[in-house]
Amino acid sequence: MLAVLTMETATEKRRRSYADALREPRVAPLLDLGTINRTLRAMRSDAIDRQASLVEHAISVWSRDEDLQVTVAPDAEAAVRAIAAASPQVRHVAINKSSVVRSELLPGLRAAGFQVLEPYYQNFQPFENRFTEYWQLPLMPVEYRLESFQVCNDLATARRSSLEAHGARDVIGVMGVNAASSSNGSVVLMQHGRNISDIFTQAREVVLVIGLDKIVADQEAAVFQAQCMALHGCESLLLDLRYKEPSGQSYGSLPFSIPPGLAGRKVHLVLLDNGRTRLLESRYRELLLCIDCRACARACPIGEIESRKGDARRNPREYVYSHALHGNPSPRACMQCQRCGVVCPVGIEVSDLMLEALAGTRMTLPGMLGDYVLSNPEKLLRHVSRLAPLYNRLTNIGLLRRLGETTAGISKERPMPKVRRRTFAQWFRSRSGRSASERTLGG
Ligand code: SF4
Ligand code: SF4
Repeated sequence: MLAVLTMETATEKRRRSYADALREPRVAPLLDLGTINRTLRAMRSDAIDRQASLVEHAISVWSRDEDLQVTVAPDAEAAVRAIAAASPQVRHVAINKSSVVRSELLPGLRAAGFQVLEPYYQNFQPFENRFTEYWQLPLMPVEYRLESFQVCNDLATARRSSLEAHGARDVIGVMGVNAASSSNGSVVLMQHGRNISDIFTQAREVVLVIGLDKIVADQEAAVFQAQCMALHGCESLLLDLRYKEPSGQSYGSLPFSIPPGLAGRKVHLVLLDNGRTRLLESRYRELLLCIDCRACARACPIGEIESRKGDARRNPREYVYSHALHGNPSPRACMQCQRCGVVCPVGIEVSDLMLEALAGTRMTLPGMLGDYVLSNPEKLLRHVSRLAPLYNRLTNIGLLRRLGETTAGISKERPMPKVRRRTFAQWFRSRSGRSASERTLGG
């Protein structure tokens, strides 16, 4: 039987001890984030270097398990067909918040006529989020963050007993997996609330979607990867937490109408390529190191702007990834601020890849002018530095910002950098020159 492990937030007792440690800081065991990140990068590099053999071995392990139905999906359409075939009469799917399901499969699921339910948000019904900016977040030492997620239970076993006791809801659970072990086939999913456990144990059929890049050498590596995802994604989670009213029927209102005998005993595994093999041989290969922690989503100003409009924050890797695979033109939105690269635990230079993607985009006016402005900020700002006070005033005038948006495609929401008349080097030279002459005069 497939081992389905969830990483969950720690037990109440342990959470309380962390809370105490935050109230009264004490010396925590030393943990070096640099070492964790280097280990993670080495592990991810190994996984994508050996992707073909790891995938092949994992398939051979899963194929021997009679409780599993394995489908290799070359693209998103094939994955959606496999999901629909899991239970052709079912019209609801319940999904988790994984990038692979939300970014790659959601449009296809909707186009296939499924009503999509997201029980994740119902976990937070009484929760009022007061964090809107990352600098408002409480600082939590890395030692506590890493330990505050632990392997909790094996969902495949829990599903069997839950089905026997309650039957199932008439829904297909579709969930992206955070990591899978090639050596023994176990899979790891990380959850902050109860949504994944609930879907896995209660849905009539369960489909686990595994991006080929998420298959790693063994279970230890898979758990470590999921733990790192939790560690680095902790703050993004707090930022994005907002209760969303379900637009249609809520997951919780679906009755347990399927008797135990009719609920699927097999777990469906969909191994999704969807361009990953092609990416391995391309200049975007580095994107496959990603662990979907969403630390860059928190750091990226584009994501901030999106979320103010009520949209879900996308992570910068998703912009380049979708561009690399499907020619999506969204890399134009990048401001080259480099914040995503600074926070990425595996060191993906997303902004460089954005530039590459931009260079390969067919440029048209007004997009071309906007792209030039946003891709050459240093060159441009050097020219306007002589008129610094005037420039700084003009960039705050709403009418001109609207004009910039329609002619150059530069969003009026985007904060423009302030310009100084002198460069930092000039300012520093003038200061050090003055100090030297003061010292000479002082004798
Ligand atoms: S460099 Fe681009 S993608 Fe990265 S954080 Fe800045 S705006 Fe976002
Ligand atoms: S690209 Fe973003 S989501 Fe991926 S590992 Fe880096 S910070 Fe995390």
